[in-house]
Amino acid sequence: MPIRLLSEQLASQIAAGEVVERPASVVKELVENALDAGATTINIDISAGGRKKIQIADNGSGIFAEEVETAFLRHATSKIETAAELEAIHTLGFRGEALAAISAVSQVTLVTRARDAQAGIRLMLDGGNVKSRETVGAPQGTVISIEQLFYNVPARLKFLKTVGTEKRLIDEFVTKYALAYPHVRFRLTHDGRISFQTTGSGEVRDVLVAVYGADIAREMLEIGEYERGDVQVAGFVAPPSLHRANRNQIVLFVNGRWVKDKNITYAIIQAYHTLLPVGRYPIAIVFVRMPLEQVDVNVHPTKTEVRFRHSGHIFSAVQRAVRETIVADSPIRHFRAGQFESLTRPQGWQGHQEQAFGRSSDLSWDQLSDPSSWSGQGQLDLSSPIIDLEPGLGAQAEDFSPEYIETEGDRLPMMRVIGQVGSSYIIGEGPDGMYLIDQHAAHERIQFEKFMDAFERQEIPSQRLVAGTAVHLPPDQATRLTDQMAVLEKLGFEIEPFGPNAFMIRAVPAVVARQDPTRVINDIIADLEVGNAPLQEKIEEKIIRRVCKTASVKAGQTLSKQEMDALVQQLERCRNPHTCPHGRPTLIYLSVAQLEREFGRA
Ligand code: ADP
Ligand code: MG
Repeated sequence: MPIRLLSEQLASQIAAGEVVERPASVVKELVENALDAGATTINIDISAGGRKKIQIADNGSGIFAEEVETAFLRHATSKIETAAELEAIHTLGFRGEALAAISAVSQVTLVTRARDAQAGIRLMLDGGNVKSRETVGAPQGTVISIEQLFYNVPARLKFLKTVGTEKRLIDEFVTKYALAYPHVRFRLTHDGRISFQTTGSGEVRDVLVAVYGADIAREMLEIGEYERGDVQVAGFVAPPSLHRANRNQIVLFVNGRWVKDKNITYAIIQAYHTLLPVGRYPIAIVFVRMPLEQVDVNVHPTKTEVRFRHSGHIFSAVQRAVRETIVADSPIRHFRAGQFESLTRPQGWQGHQEQAFGRSSDLSWDQLSDPSSWSGQGQLDLSSPIIDLEPGLGAQAEDFSPEYIETEGDRLPMMRVIGQVGSSYIIGEGPDGMYLIDQHAAHERIQFEKFMDAFERQEIPSQRLVAGTAVHLPPDQATRLTDQMAVLEKLGFEIEPFGPNAFMIRAVPAVVARQDPTRVINDIIADLEVGNAPLQEKIEEKIIRRVCKTASVKAGQTLSKQEMDALVQQLERCRNPHTCPHGRPTLIYLSVAQLEREFGRA
């Protein structure tokens, strides 16, 4: 083929791909435009996860009648003019690409009236071409509607995820921006139902209530005015007793822009060093401010990645600010704060005793990992042992037919329990050697096989909670939970909607009856957040693995001889006793021959 210039149409469709990847990126660009226009109210209405329609209405500056068409041209912006200004970007937008890109791949209706203008303008575009323009009456501000997104880019359309996924990404984005702009009143609806709204009170804590619910919002610790050199750090971080299974709830804003930065995220995690259990992450909303020229936001068209001139300095500022906040969190300080309901609650960050309080977030890790010390929802029998002492509950009787054993050939021999090391490993003696068993991994395996057997028989025992437990979730997580309701029901959960983004847990699988239901649900959601849209069977398995993990004895728990015996007997009956459901080994075997070699006897 000869070399030719692309048609303007095709060139802009290609360029659009960089900025608008999916409905959530359209929402991002349009919300950023509204914020740049100084809006104090932003209403976002979504139909079918944004495939059908995205409408954003703001009460910002509006666009002058004579500039309305220009706004949709590529590289048209009112935000910068010179290269020098590129060095110190103070607006969220500046590339002049979004409206051009969005209009190239959709049908747009814009109604806008600038401050002091007599009337508004309605402009309609189709695939970037102006179809109509008329003068209309309109309130000050801008309403932009995007319909039929990607209707002329079938390749893009094909790659869109489910409506649920797109909704979730939009929710995630809007809630994050609401946290950073607490003085702006946000309202987000999906198919006519309010999914999320804020009051615009200017208080981040009020937005935290809207996103995470009152319980978590109350516990979040505010980073006081922290300044190091010309870097300012502010925000809210969770006390170490409140944590999540992944880092998705660590949110970072730099000069008012939501950015993703592995380094600073790590600084936040580092600040909790030794205070959080391994594999657990904080909830943190951190706002960093620094001189504009010290950060380059012009790295990527979507502007979510930035480059810092002095990244080491920022790392340590953030780490210190967060660390100081969590370390300073003492009962006295809370008492003086005087605004929380739970004033008498001892609050701290080290293994303190909080037995009297039943809510998940009140429990320290030690207590969560030790069900016997947890007072829970009142339906628990605290005196019962951690390990199910009934070995018969292991694999089914028919599994022990000689034929079964032959085909698997992988079972463990009978063992005699000798003792426990480090409250984590059980030493067992077998016919020709010694076994070191990881109690957590082994128990996970046992619970997993029991659970899978029950699942196949469709008889998962479910435990009703005496009083239901209410959980409030951020909208994106609420969508995720709603999407998996059917699976959760099959697995023994009974969960009902309980107001916007809130749920009432009525029953849980019996194996986790001793655990805090809120935490079980949070952990399941966190697992689902990792990896993208797996197959439905995989989702089922993921949830089952999480349930079994939660139901298992933890490392560091002292077991009675009786409990160790029961655990080892149950492991002996497992079909795949050598690994936990996540693939880690459950035991290490040292043969007599190996021991002899080690001691130089052989
Ligand atoms: P950028 O935001 O990078 O300038 P956009 O393509 O997003 O580029 O927008 C182009 C221009 O249109 C903006 O610079 C701004 O002047 C105007 N504009 C877009 N959205 C709005 C809005 N909601 N309110 C007021 N002006 C707007
Ligand atoms: Mg913009």
